[in-house]
Amino acid sequence: MTVQTHGAGGRTGIGMTSARTRERLVQRLRAQGIADPQVLDQIRNVPRHLFVDEALATRAYEDTALPIGYGQTISQPYVVARMTEALLEGTAPRKVLEIGTGCGYQTAVLSPLVKFLYTIERISPLLERARLRFKELRLRNVNLRHGDGFKGWVAHAPYDGILMAAAPLQIPQALFAQLGPGGRLIAPVGPEGRQHLVRITRRGDDFHTETLGLVSFVPLLKGIT
Ligand code: SAH
Repeated sequence: MTVQTHGAGGRTGIGMTSARTRERLVQRLRAQGIADPQVLDQIRNVPRHLFVDEALATRAYEDTALPIGYGQTISQPYVVARMTEALLEGTAPRKVLEIGTGCGYQTAVLSPLVKFLYTIERISPLLERARLRFKELRLRNVNLRHGDGFKGWVAHAPYDGILMAAAPLQIPQALFAQLGPGGRLIAPVGPEGRQHLVRITRRGDDFHTETLGLVSFVPLLKGIT
């Protein structure tokens, strides 16, 4: 028997999963300044259409955020690429904590680029759906937790990198404490709709802050649901 497949997952037909559609997105991000070849390869390789609802799959390779339910969004590919690049620059981190798993797209982009990846999500059904996708995609270095990212994940600290996918008004103290020597924290900070993306690097007990531009993220919320 011959089985015809249409790219990863096969569920949405050849159009939106085609190499050409993905390559267009990669070219666009490169034109916007994303230069790390590993990051661009991941944008090319990760099947973003599997992380959104089937009704939105035709838009999965547009450079735009899309709804994923529960009032949350899958981040815009440019922002995912920019944050990943900012995290990896210089010495590549081995152990990374991600806060705000959402649909798991950012996690999937980052997973092969680090040794250990820990990810926390406060909305249980989103986390469970992400867990299934990681299994399907065979991402074996990802550990998931239903929890409140304000507290970090102390059991596996310190981290070489922390990446936040939801914006606090200020970086929670617990996250500074869980950042190892030379560690980098990438986060959107500020009120809804107008945040600065920052990279904070730990040097001894000093935390050096760089501002990487304006972004728009959902807020970091307390507690779990
Ligand atoms: N990186 C994700 C983006 C998800 S949107 C992606 O690629 O799809 C941000 C996510 O952060 C949402 O799912 C939201 O529920 C989650 N979030 C918000 N506050 C949180 C908190 N305190 N702890 C853990 N997750 C949180």
